[in-house]
Amino acid sequence: MTDYQHLLLATDLTESSKTVAKKAVSLARHFKAKLSLIHVVDYTPSYGYLYVADVSDDLVKRAKTELCNWGKEFEIPESDQIVEMGSIKNEVLGVAADRQADLILVGSHGPHGLAKLLGSTASAIVNSAECDTLVIRSED
Ligand code: AMP
Repeated sequence: MTDYQHLLLATDLTESSKTVAKKAVSLARHFKAKLSLIHVVDYTPSYGYLYVADVSDDLVKRAKTELCNWGKEFEIPESDQIVEMGSIKNEVLGVAADRQADLILVGSHGPHGLAKLLGSTASAIVNSAECDTLVIRSED
């Protein structure tokens, strides 16, 4: 099997997806690879410009704080904690390419997804990625 060097875990930062993150950490250790975390703030504005700027700044700030907590819990340095805003699929794939990740990890579905079905975000990432992807079964 290829020895992956840089794993990128896309996370929705939900409590239930921590089981996915634990498996990602184990895999990174197994491959002696770097592990980066990305969370995308998927926010579609629908109000006036100033209000939108405030809301989006606040969402990004909160996401950074939460991702920083995950970084501490999973021992991932700040430089490998990434928060972007936009389309989840495009941002995850863009960051994977920019940072030369060779394996993207996703959970099979978010907390509201159906347990037996691959979620739409996971599916979009897997179908469009230019590097290998691994879907980790979400437990809920
Ligand atoms: P879904 O397809 O939306 O049910 O989510 C499945 C997986 O897509 C999650 O377990 C994450 O790996 C990834 N994902 C979902 N939302 C986000 C997000 N906002 N940022 C980064 N990754 C996400």
